[in-house]
Amino acid sequence: METNALNAAVEAYAARLGRPLEAPRAVLFDMDGVLYDSMPGHARSWKKMCDSVGIDADPDEFYAYEGRTGASTINLLYRRQYGHGADDETCKRLYAIKSENFRQLGPPPLMHGAPAAVAAVKASAAVCVLVTGSGQASILERLDRDYDGAFGLRVTAHDVKHGKPDPEPYLMGMAKASAAPWQAIAVDNAPLGVESASRAGAFTIGVRTGPLPAGALIESGADIEIDSMEECAEILAQLL
Ligand code: CA
Repeated sequence: METNALNAAVEAYAARLGRPLEAPRAVLFDMDGVLYDSMPGHARSWKKMCDSVGIDADPDEFYAYEGRTGASTINLLYRRQYGHGADDETCKRLYAIKSENFRQLGPPPLMHGAPAAVAAVKASAAVCVLVTGSGQASILERLDRDYDGAFGLRVTAHDVKHGKPDPEPYLMGMAKASAAPWQAIAVDNAPLGVESASRAGAFTIGVRTGPLPAGALIESGADIEIDSMEECAEILAQLL
């Protein structure tokens, strides 16, 4: 990332928000596809659950739903297959099957560069906050160990009424860190997540770690779009 490009993005953010980015108090990280290289496993787990209960699905479609809560994805599948949504009990039951499929795949690998990005925050005055639509217990339990206790502050599927792309998850993450939007940086890899962070007013870094076309995250509202978490670590070191 050229320093000039980053400066231009910070200036455009100030124009978008109507005030400049201040010394950041919080860096809000999405989990799947940002901290963990877990999206291929999630897509396989969703497809396997659908096959086991007779719902038609394409394995690749789950990348497009990334950032939604499990219940939201299940409702979408139900409406398409049966013409109506799923009740709470069905959502819980099907999400449990999907979660078990995912757990059986074993722990997902850490995303390359993500530990360096988190280390850049820990070396600064800002705090890390997790903001995920996931409720996957098997991966949430690993965070403390994998990221050395950096994510004491968390917003998960269990905390929010409205998942991404609603701004609620990122606004809640900022509130937990006592950070105003202009004191917050968000890192997300999915269009719905980037939209949520951008609407919440954070300086939003879109990281294309998956199969999205170039420009897709800028289109969703990212203030800057990059290709890797290695690059994210460099940007954070410059901003913090
Ligand atoms: Ca994600």
